Amino acid sequence: MNEPKFKAHAFTCPHCGVLATMHWVSIKKDFSEDFKSEEAAISVCFNCNKPALWVNKELVYPDYKDVAPHKDMPEPAAKTFREAQSILTRSPRGSCMLLRLCLEQLLTWLGYDQKTLASKISEVSKRNTQIESLLNVCRFAGNEFVHAGTLDSLDKSGLDPKGTAESLSTLINSAVEILITQPKIIADLNNRFSKH
Ligand SMILES: [Zn+2]
Repeated sequence: MNEPKFKAHAFTCPHCGVLATMHWVSIKKDFSEDFKSEEAAISVCFNCNKPALWVNKELVYPDYKDVAPHKDMPEPAAKTFREAQSILTRSPRGSCMLLRLCLEQLLTWLGYDQKTLASKISEVSKRNTQIESLLNVCRFAGNEFVHAGTLDSLDKSGLDPKGTAESLSTLINSAVEILITQPKIIADLNNRFSKH
């Protein structure tokens, strides 16, 4: 993950989440004292072709969320996770739905081939009791947004889609840590010590 930087040649695009070369477009006119043209610009991503706006050398559009997928998160879950981050600010509800999908892809990758997400989770929980509530809260939060009647009712629901999407991102990374990283470390250690 290369954080967006003013006038940098390449960085992780806040739209598509891909590390891409950026094309910089200067702004020629000084509009006021506090809008200096040399500190403002538009960067355009070579991968998705979408623009980002910079003022005072700061990225002001779109919002950039630096939640990278856990390093052990497998594809295609990681791809979905990055996509969820890229729309988190503009569409937190969409982001929550993608994070729910990400969780489903993660469990499928781990070999849980049950039909529904709920039955996958109950299968994981048989082997790992700690994780049950963590996974279920991801599923419930995602469901809220998938099944909500109208976007309007959701806006008034006080469910805080943006906060929810941010929390879900953190929780899914924790799930990768528990389900993939820790067993890997334990297996490595077992291998190392069983040889002696
Ligand atoms: Zn892009």
